[in-house]
Amino acid sequence: MELISRRKLLREGTQALAAGVSIGSLSPANGPRPPAGAVDYYQKLGVTPFINAAGTYTILTASIMPEEVQAAVALAAQKPVHLMELHKAAGEYLARRLRCEGALVTSGAAAAITLATAACITRGNKSAILDIPTEMQGLKNEVIVQKAHHYDYDHAIRGCGARFVDVQTLDEYERAFTERTVMTQFFNAAEGGRISREDWVRVAHQHGVPCFNDAAADVPPISNLWNYTEMGFDLVAFSGGKGIRGPQCTGLLLGKKDLIDAAQLNNSPYSNTIGRGMKVGKEEIVGLVAGVDWFLKQDDAAMEAEYRARAQRITERVRSIPGVEARIFIPPVANHVPHLLITYDPNRIKLSASEVMQKMRDGTPRIELNPSTGGGPASAGLPEGHHVIVVGVWMLQPGEDQIVGRRLQEVLGEGAK
Ligand SMILES: *Cc1c(COP(=O)(O)O)cnc(C)c1O
Repeated sequence: MELISRRKLLREGTQALAAGVSIGSLSPANGPRPPAGAVDYYQKLGVTPFINAAGTYTILTASIMPEEVQAAVALAAQKPVHLMELHKAAGEYLARRLRCEGALVTSGAAAAITLATAACITRGNKSAILDIPTEMQGLKNEVIVQKAHHYDYDHAIRGCGARFVDVQTLDEYERAFTERTVMTQFFNAAEGGRISREDWVRVAHQHGVPCFNDAAADVPPISNLWNYTEMGFDLVAFSGGKGIRGPQCTGLLLGKKDLIDAAQLNNSPYSNTIGRGMKVGKEEIVGLVAGVDWFLKQDDAAMEAEYRARAQRITERVRSIPGVEARIFIPPVANHVPHLLITYDPNRIKLSASEVMQKMRDGTPRIELNPSTGGGPASAGLPEGHHVIVVGVWMLQPGEDQIVGRRLQEVLGEGAK
């Protein structure tokens, strides 16, 4: 990964800080205005929104679409189109912009994993589309994976009738291919695993087997949108609702044209397919294309500088409390953006980090901290600990860092009494 020079970072950091001061002084009340005539259904249903100091977590509704993406979705919602014409045009446009042969808008990265597997099993065999996942006689269905790459999305592969073949060493990998091998699976953000991406691709291709990479949460950097297909992975999945900031219910499957075409045949709107329940509509398709357009206009160094500036403003607030320390941490692959780690002396502040998290959630406004706070369920690559508070700053809206900083200062300050 390219390292940004310290000087460049400081320079851009200062600019972002300057920009942040004016944005940061806006109160949320001056924030996004509701579209004319819109009913606030969160209010009507009694569901209270929160400030997202966590990150792009599905259960917390992931990300907020930038205004131009929201506007594109609202406009697309006003007119009917032929769904397959839209799928085809969006796929061609995305493939061009993302430097690959083919692209498919899916209902999420998890759906992209399923459609990738279905594509590998059924390509060139239309009746197989009807047969999976139960009538697997005569179909290749072995998926090779590194033992350390098993994860919470295994079901997205197994659901196609596939079976895993586990390997640990390069030698085992080379010997694992049989006449039933249909795909090899790589989890891009896996923390273990001895076989490199390059070796993984090379050996699969020696055996003529397509190679899939799940990079769902692995932008930024922006260039990851083409890094893995250019490295030779035949199929790569991204989540549309995480760093790309398209609609939450979207994902991207990128890769070789023949495999993308095969994935599409297993997908909605075709009815008797494994993907029929993974429908995306015009709002999702247009929303993801607009999200990609928005994301490609961003700049990695400027985004990083902005997140550092937000973390800095929160740090200035909490450092005033004796026993509290704060530093920035960037996870190596997934969620590869500055996070603020706040640690404190439990003898001086008589609260566990989970209690801090609960107080932030119960306060006004509601604030959600990163789930790895207090040793909660680990988020990809983030450190945990009973007295570690993790603030994900990248999904904060303008001005919200000040509110998070003020509330943390209040809660930690109370604990220090
Ligand atoms: C988030 C994530 C997914 C699922 O993404 P969706 O877009 O919510 O379907 C799959 N794999 C990994 C590694 C993820 O981080």
